Amino acid sequence: MFADQDYPEIREAVRRLCAEFPGEYWRELDAKREYPASFVERLTEAGYLATLIPEEFGGSGLPLSGAAAVLEEIQRAGCNGAACHAQMYVMGTVLRHGTDAQKQQYLPAIAKGELRLQAFGVTEPTSGTDTTSIRTFASRQGDEYVINGQKIWTSRAEHSDLMVLLARTTAREDVTKRTDGLSVFIVDMRAAAGNGLTIRPIRTMMNHSTTEVFFDDVRIPGANLVGEEGKGFRYILSGMNAERILIAAECIGDAKWLIEKSASYAGERKVFGRPIGVNQGIQFPIARAYANMRAAELMLREALRCYEAGENCGAEANMAKLLAADASNEAANMCVQTHGGFGFAEEYDIERKFRETRLYQVAPISSNLILSYLAEHVLGLPRSY
Ligand SMILES: Cc1cc2nc3c(=O)[nH]c(=O)nc-3n(C[C@H](O)[C@H](O)[C@H](O)COP(=O)(O)OP(=O)(O)OC[C@H]3O[C@@H](n4cnc5c(N)ncnc54)[C@H](O)[C@@H]3O)c2cc1C
Repeated sequence: MFADQDYPEIREAVRRLCAEFPGEYWRELDAKREYPASFVERLTEAGYLATLIPEEFGGSGLPLSGAAAVLEEIQRAGCNGAACHAQMYVMGTVLRHGTDAQKQQYLPAIAKGELRLQAFGVTEPTSGTDTTSIRTFASRQGDEYVINGQKIWTSRAEHSDLMVLLARTTAREDVTKRTDGLSVFIVDMRAAAGNGLTIRPIRTMMNHSTTEVFFDDVRIPGANLVGEEGKGFRYILSGMNAERILIAAECIGDAKWLIEKSASYAGERKVFGRPIGVNQGIQFPIARAYANMRAAELMLREALRCYEAGENCGAEANMAKLLAADASNEAANMCVQTHGGFGFAEEYDIERKFRETRLYQVAPISSNLILSYLAEHVLGLPRSY
């Protein structure tokens, strides 16, 4: 049903691994809102979470398209890579901007699975999408930074050892450009737990292990600053393109799973003595979902090409995320409709995917903010905020 693609061997191996984690596994965790620990362990052991780590640090050293292939296949198999996808792109910040000592300290241990770097603390309750308004503050005191503030929606914080944190090191009032004065840190949450760091889970409509994190005089070594103090916003932005591209790949995988399920059910389910799939009212939404998915997939390929060529891929990464998130969300809606009442039954996994795909209209960046980026940066329209 879907054309063969790049990395056929990796895709096949990921499919085999995912077959060990069928719908029942995800349903049970979903009901209890539990973390898919054994799935993440298997992915780690198989080396997939180290896809982007260079070989010299023990990873596979593949380009972003390798990670995209892994994540797409996970979703296409009905599994959920959101439990660990951040490790793929968060680590890029350390890779591109970290010191040699930081890379030596963290990357080999992450590649071996001894350390997890899956938490990314950017969003705050009062700033929302307006990232430069964050208030979490890290003040330099001797050889240390002392952190105070609060993050929200910090996913996987309870299941990660390290967090990449964005904090202010100069107050917004004291900088001329609002993007200045922000810095990136590696926070060792094992050391900080009980020493000023508190993590509180937030229960959401899907199983996502998201949390709010409070920093109350959390002390971290000065050596955990990534790159230059005050320049963190641009480091985070460069990682965000990778994040958008990888989330787009996951959405394409979800859309494929949903389309495949729908086409197969429409061919089997008989009502009025014939398969429902002979009715164009059922066929056309499936065909439309397929066309939308393919268009989004082509934009994803273009975004990957630009990213890997070192070109500015801001517009392509954003468009890939926008179109792929729409394609998966619409495919989920269509899949529920195609299945009639059964689309609502937990045992079909469709309602779970319907909830999971909905997230990507909002996170990691909402569709509105992507449209506003395109309007301003591509079309030259005035900035609206
Ligand atoms: C399950 C989940 C997991 C997440 N994981 C992480 C994580 O691991 N780390 C992290 O840092 N963050 C994470 N996030 C946060 C996520 O990135 C934000 O929710 C998202 O960026 C939107 O921010 P907000 O929720 O504050 O919405 P707001 O900024 O309050 O926006 C609310 C609505 O208003 C719209 N809006 C706001 N401003 C404008 C404008 N100028 N023009 C048009 N529309 C506008 C938005 O599009 C949105 O629909 C997660 C969120 C969720 C729900």
